[in-house]
Amino acid sequence: MLFLATSLALLSSPSTPPDMRPSVNAAMAKRPLRNIGMSVRMRPITEGPPIPKIQGPSNSSRPLVVIDPGHGGHDPGARNVKSGALEKDVTLAVAMALRDELLKSGRVRIALTREDDSFLALEERFGLARDMGAALFISIHADASEETGAHGATIYTLSDVASDAEAERLAARENRANVLGGVDLSRKSSAVSSILIDLMQRETMASSAKFAELLHRETAPDLTFRNPWNRRAALVVLRAPDTPSILFETGYISNDAEAEQLRSVEGRRKLAEGAARAIAIYAATLDSSRRADPPR
Ligand code: ZN
Repeated sequence: MLFLATSLALLSSPSTPPDMRPSVNAAMAKRPLRNIGMSVRMRPITEGPPIPKIQGPSNSSRPLVVIDPGHGGHDPGARNVKSGALEKDVTLAVAMALRDELLKSGRVRIALTREDDSFLALEERFGLARDMGAALFISIHADASEETGAHGATIYTLSDVASDAEAERLAARENRANVLGGVDLSRKSSAVSSILIDLMQRETMASSAKFAELLHRETAPDLTFRNPWNRRAALVVLRAPDTPSILFETGYISNDAEAEQLRSVEGRRKLAEGAARAIAIYAATLDSSRRADPPR
């Protein structure tokens, strides 16, 4: 709940959204508008997404991996023209395949930012990972291009400077989800300005790059990558200052062959097996660095 100090002039403004117009009794409405201040109890604009359930081992010392199926709800993402396959469905199916593969090993705990067709703003996605203390955040997507021949996977890491014009276009497309949500939240990262957060972010970016290397190495035998396979862009969903994060464009949904591969159980299984191996190796490096810490 929010309390908003406002005036009757604002309340009666036709430009005020209906949500923000509490009912004002008739007697009050007849009083002069000048100099009347009041507190109005209002519903928060968004309730925030539900906290996802954590799956896998109950041992809370196991690292938590948050998998984020891109898009959802009124934001379908990209689309395959021939089959009509939507990116939001493909990303959810890939995320679930990866979760199932990770559950087999019991090495890490897993949570999905969404398990159904719901919409989350980009900050909500990495916000959940932060709130839950995730060791790793993986946002799953499928690429699109006007060129039907465009194909191959790419792993994106965060940078304020895009590695090329195409990476910049991709960032513009993926960041658009927030505007689609009705509220442009992408400018709210001004807190990321202190030196401490800056240092933390450097370390996080180094860990993200390390995981990107592993993910490429372990999935490359079964997956075609673009050249270069690793690009950097100002992707809002990767902005958590303290959670190593990557965005995995798992292939082109606009490419018929790759769209079919991503939609097939076998195609997803191969991708998930490689990604799960990469996550297991990454988790092992976290364990060993923890052991290397001097006892306190
Ligand atoms: Zn996407």
